[in-house]
Amino acid sequence: MDEDLLKKYWAVVKTELETFKPGPNEDCNYYPCHFKGQDCAYCYCPFYPCMDQRLGKMVHKEGDDEEVWSCQDCYWTHRSDVAKLISENFPFSEEPPADEIRAEIKKKIEEKCPVSAKPLMILGTTSGAGKSIIASAFCRVFSDMGYNVAPFKSQNMSLNSMAISDGEIARAQYLQAIAARTDPEVSMNPILLKPQGDDVSQVVVNGSVYKNMPVSEYYENFTVNEGINIVTNAWEYLRRTRDIVVIEGAGSPAEINLSECELSNMKAAEIANAPCILVVNMIRGGAFAYAYGTITLLSPAHRKHIKGIIFNNMYGSADCLDSGIKKLESMLGIPVLGVIPHIEHALPEEDSQDLKSSKDGNDIAIVHLPRISNFTDFDALSLSGVSVKFVRQPNELRTARAIVIPGTKNTFADMAWMKENGFFETLKELRGKVPILGICGGYQILGKSIYDTEGIEGDVKAAEGLGFLDVSTVFDTTDKKTVQVCGCLENGEEIRGYEIHMGKTESHEKPLITLDDGSPEGSISPDGMVIGTYLHGIFDLPPFRDYFLEKSSITSSEEVDYDAEVDKDLDLMAETLRSNIDMKVIMKIMEDGV
Ligand code: SF4
Repeated sequence: MDEDLLKKYWAVVKTELETFKPGPNEDCNYYPCHFKGQDCAYCYCPFYPCMDQRLGKMVHKEGDDEEVWSCQDCYWTHRSDVAKLISENFPFSEEPPADEIRAEIKKKIEEKCPVSAKPLMILGTTSGAGKSIIASAFCRVFSDMGYNVAPFKSQNMSLNSMAISDGEIARAQYLQAIAARTDPEVSMNPILLKPQGDDVSQVVVNGSVYKNMPVSEYYENFTVNEGINIVTNAWEYLRRTRDIVVIEGAGSPAEINLSECELSNMKAAEIANAPCILVVNMIRGGAFAYAYGTITLLSPAHRKHIKGIIFNNMYGSADCLDSGIKKLESMLGIPVLGVIPHIEHALPEEDSQDLKSSKDGNDIAIVHLPRISNFTDFDALSLSGVSVKFVRQPNELRTARAIVIPGTKNTFADMAWMKENGFFETLKELRGKVPILGICGGYQILGKSIYDTEGIEGDVKAAEGLGFLDVSTVFDTTDKKTVQVCGCLENGEEIRGYEIHMGKTESHEKPLITLDDGSPEGSISPDGMVIGTYLHGIFDLPPFRDYFLEKSSITSSEEVDYDAEVDKDLDLMAETLRSNIDMKVIMKIMEDGV
C-alpha cells in the first residue's frame, strides 16, 4: 500500500480502535459480508495487509494487472473474541505501527484465538455407545479451559429436534452447544434426517426442510453430491470461527456397506482432518471385540485417524480390564485413553430406543407412538419425582392419573396405529375421568379431523381424530413452523416452549396460552379435562408442570429447575471425564492431528 493510502487507511482504523463498537452492525448495507452474527468492530482491519495465506490471498483488481491483498474469506477478525483482543492490544498511535509490531500483536492474539479450529472427533462402536454425552462432556471441559468451542455433527438421524433462532437442529447438538456455552447454530448440525417410516426421511438442511427422500436416493445421490458440499461449508464456517470443534460421529464408522456414501463418520473425519476417539459401551458386553472389530474394518487411511479408545459406562472397578486393555493396545497399536464409570444423569437421551419410563408407578401414561418425536418433553416431569410411563398397550392407560399423546413424525400413521391397537376406544372410555394432554401431533389427534390434500404425510387424504377438542388440522404446505415462543397461561404464569411442526390447526376452543405477541396457542375443552398444545418443552418451566399436575391430582416430590439440572449434569459429566482421562494427552492428540 502506498504511504498516503496507508495513512488514510490508518486514520479509519484509529477511529475504529478509539470508538470500539463490538458486535454485528446490522444497519450496514453489506451486512453480513462474512458470516451471520459477525463482529463488525474492525471493518478496516488493523493488520492489513497481513499477507497470511491462511486468511487471505493476492487477487487481481478487476480489469487490472495489479494485484491486491484480499480479505474476502477472512473470518478471523470478525470473531467477537478476536475483535475484543484487538481493542485491548492495539496502540492508539497517530501513525500506523511498524509491520513487525503488528505481526507481534497478531501472533499474541493468535495464541489465544487460532485462525483455524482444532477438531476432535468422537466416534462410537454402536448407536448408544455414549458418543453424544461424551462429546457434550468434552465441549464443557474445553469451555471450562477458556476455549471458544462448537459442537458439530454433519448428519444426525433423530426425531428429537429443537427450534433455534435460524431453524431446526438435533436436540443432541443443542445440548452440546449449551455444554460449550455458545449459541446453537444450524451449522452445528447441517443435515438432520427425520425418519417418517417406510424407508423415507424428511431431510432438513441448514435448519429448513429440504424434502422427503427415500433412503436409496439419499445414499445414491444426495450424500455424494449436494450433501458433501453442505457438510463442507458448515465445517468451514465452524473451523474459521472457533478454537476447537468437537465432532460427533453417528452409529458406527464400520458400516462398510455405506463407506462410499456416508457423510457422518469417516467422511466427516476426512473433511475436518480430525483425530478421532472411539467410544465403546461396556454395558453391551464384548467391548474388546467391538473396539478391535470396528478399527480393523476401517481402511488403513481411515484407521490413521483413530488416536485412542474410551471404554464408557463401566459398572464397578475397572481393574479387571487391565490385562485385556494391554492386549488390545498391543494388537491395535492404539492407546486406551481411559475408562468412564457409569453415571446416573438427567441429560436428554439421543435415541428413542433409550427411552425410559420411571421405575415405579404410572402417574402419567404417555402413549408410546411408533414414530414418537421430542420425547425429551417429559424429562422435567421425571426429574420432579413424578412417575412417567411410556405405554404400548391401551389397558395401561386405565391406571394412570393423567394421559399424554406426544409428538409424532407422522400423525396419520400413528393415529392409524392407535386406532388399530384399541387406544381410541380406551381413550373414549376415559374421557372426562382423567386429564388428557396432546402435544404437537398428539394435539392434532385430539381434534375432530385432519386433512392432507397435498399428500405431505402419505396417501391418506383425510382422517377423523378423537374429537375431544373442537379443532381441525390441515396439511397444505411443506413449510414447517420452527420457532421458540414465550407466553402465559390464563393465570398469568409464564410459559416457554418451541414449535416444530407442519400443518395448521384451527381451534374453536378456549386457548390454553396467550403468546407474547398476543396470539392464542393451544386449546382447552370446556370441562378443562382435554388440553392440546403445539409447544414442546412446555414442562421444563414449573408453571405448566404445576398446572397439569394439579389438574391430575399428582403431587411432585421435587421442585425442579430443569435448566439448572441439565447444567449441573453437564458439569458432572465434564468432571467425570477429567477424572478418568488425561486431558494433556487429549490436547497432544489434537495438537499432533492425524
Ligand atoms: S486477511 Fe484477515 S487478518 Fe489479514 S489483513 Fe485481511 S482481515 Fe486482516
